[in-house]
Amino acid sequence: MKSNGVKGGRARTRAKSPAEVLSMRGRRVLITGAASGIGRAMADIFALAGAGLILVDIDEKGLQRTLRDVARDSCEVAAHAAHVADLSRKEQVDGLWASLAGSLPDTLINNAGVYPMRDYLEEDADSLERTLAVNLKSTFWMCQAFIRERRDKGGVMINVSSIEAILPFKKDLVPYSVSKSGIIALTRALARDYGRDGFRANAILPGAIRTPGTGRLVRKAVSTVNLDLMKTGYDFQSRLALGRWGKPEEVASVALFLASDLASYVQGALIPVDGGFLSS
Ligand code: NAD
Repeated sequence: MKSNGVKGGRARTRAKSPAEVLSMRGRRVLITGAASGIGRAMADIFALAGAGLILVDIDEKGLQRTLRDVARDSCEVAAHAAHVADLSRKEQVDGLWASLAGSLPDTLINNAGVYPMRDYLEEDADSLERTLAVNLKSTFWMCQAFIRERRDKGGVMINVSSIEAILPFKKDLVPYSVSKSGIIALTRALARDYGRDGFRANAILPGAIRTPGTGRLVRKAVSTVNLDLMKTGYDFQSRLALGRWGKPEEVASVALFLASDLASYVQGALIPVDGGFLSS
């Protein structure tokens, strides 16, 4: 891992092809939120690239479905494992890392997240705590455990933030925006503090990706005839420079790039994968 581009040797060796650099053979990648949507697509692409996977989610059924499907398409079946954990609970994060001793990941993708919509004035301590705990604190503790365990080896961290952290667009997502802004601050702070130890940390900012999670939001807007939410949806759609929503695979492929040595000099970056939403 420390060959991550931080230190280059002088010996002249054959340059690897981009396909070889993208190969994840021999790599071990932990993906949270792997039961659904973007996390599920990440599991697919990293398995195809040859990585051994550690899949984590609170949803046991969905997780088993992902594990079964990636095992079917992969020759590294024995290299994959699934762990059910509620990452909003610190003791479950600790338990997860205790169970990983001996098969530690070299790449950590913090993707699990929730986006509950609620009027800011209705927020209470419990609802705020829940959103921060799932989205931000889980990422905080997962990165800490990862760096502690790999102090001498380095590694790659990829944290999933959101376009909402930069441009709050939908109403009633205040705690979500706060949590996703926190992920950006965390990622950049870790990139600075641990870059010299061989760690890379970057954030992906997805937007308008069709997943079971965003599907539920759209259905809610339609079924409750929520005109405000429908109008936001219309305005949102019209800002997409590519004129369409994205697919989970289109986020997963950016994560693969960031995990690979093609991104060996990318550090503390915020990478929108949003069809041009933030730029238009
Ligand atoms: P999704 O709802 O389809 O999947 C989220 C996954 O996280 C689910 O499998 C869920 O079970 C898991 N999860 C939720 N709480 C958990 C917990 N406490 N412990 C462990 N796992 C838990 O959502 P998605 O759209 O694929 O979103 C994935 C990530 O991308 C989220 O962090 C989300 O905020 C972010 N994001 C998505 C979009 C988008 O357009 N889809 C946009 C911006 C950011």
